[in-house]
Amino acid sequence: IKDMADDEAIQATNDDASECKRYAVQLGYWCDPFISLLVKQTARKQPEINRGYYARVKGIELFVDKFLKLSGGKGQIINLGAGFDTLYWRLREAGNSPANFMELDFPSITAKKCYHIKKHKQLIDMLNTEDGEIRFSTTDLHAANYHLVGTDLRHIAELNSKLAQAEVNFNLPTMFLAECVLVYVDASATSSLLKWLAGKFPNSLFVSYEQVNMKDKFGQVMLSNLRSRGCLLAGVEDCESLETQQRRFTINNWEGTSAWTMVDVYDSLPVMDRSRIEHIEMLDERELLTQLLQHYCIAVAWNGQTFKNLSIAQG
Ligand code: SAM
Repeated sequence: IKDMADDEAIQATNDDASECKRYAVQLGYWCDPFISLLVKQTARKQPEINRGYYARVKGIELFVDKFLKLSGGKGQIINLGAGFDTLYWRLREAGNSPANFMELDFPSITAKKCYHIKKHKQLIDMLNTEDGEIRFSTTDLHAANYHLVGTDLRHIAELNSKLAQAEVNFNLPTMFLAECVLVYVDASATSSLLKWLAGKFPNSLFVSYEQVNMKDKFGQVMLSNLRSRGCLLAGVEDCESLETQQRRFTINNWEGTSAWTMVDVYDSLPVMDRSRIEHIEMLDERELLTQLLQHYCIAVAWNGQTFKNLSIAQG
C-alpha cells in the first residue's frame, strides 16, 4: 500500500511540471501552442521558477536539435516518463520530426494523455498517419510515427514488449530523454534500465535532466530533498554530484558521458534569448536563480561514435 501511495505521488509530479510549463509559456518565456490543450490554467509561479523551467526546456531542446541534425531525421526519440510533454507536436510544427517518436509513462498518466489527445482535433490532426489510421486503447495510442504507451520503467520485460508495440528499431540512432524521471526510480531499477538500454541500442544518446548537489556542507543528503510532493526520491543517491550522475552511466556500460549544472546550461544559451526572457519579469535577487540552477543538471551519455562528446556549446 505504501508503494502504491508513492507511485501515485510520483505520478502527481507530472501535474507540477506541466503546470509550471504552461504558466511560463503563458507569460511568453517560450512558444508552445500545445501545452494549454493538456493542462488547465494554474496559479502564479515565482520568476526564478519560470526562468528555471526556461533553462530546462531550452537545455533539452539544444540536445534534441543536435540529435536530429546528427541522425539526419532518420533517428528515433524515446521519452521516458514523458508526462504531458509536447515535444512531438513542437517538432512536427517546426517540420523537424524524427522517424519515430515514443512516449512512455505509467498507464494512469498515458491514459490521461490519450484522453486529451483524442479530445483535441489540433493534436490528433498532427499525428502522422500514412493510411489515416490511429489505434487507441485506454492507455496506449499508436500512429504512424508517434506511439504513446503505458508501462512501468522498473519492469524491463514489459518495457521490451511495449517498445516492440511502438515499432522500435534497435539499430536506428536513438535518443532517450528522461526529464526529471530517474530520481523517482530506485537506484537498482535505474541501473537495470540503463544497462539494458546500453546493451540494446548500440548507436544512442541519453539525455537526463535532474537534481544534483543534493548534499549539505557536512556531506549529508539534505533531508528536505529526500521527498518531493510527499514521495520518496528513490534515486537521490545518484544526484549527489555531477560525477555520481556520470558514474551511473559508465558503470552501466555506457561508453562516455558528460554533465553540466544548469548554471552552465543557462549561461550557454544565446545572449539575445536570455536578455529577452530576463525582461519578462523582474528578479530582484539574481542569487535566488543561481541557487536554484546549481541544484539541477543535464547529464548525457552515448554509445557508438555518432553522438560522442556532445556538449552544451551552441550550434
Ligand atoms: N518528463 C516530463 C516533464 O519533464 O515534463 C514529466 C516529469 S514528472 C516530474 C515525472 C514523470 O515520470 C511522471 O510523469 C511520472 O509518472 C514518470 N515516472 C516516474 N517513475 C516512473 C516509472 N517507474 N515508470 C514510468 N513512468 C515513471
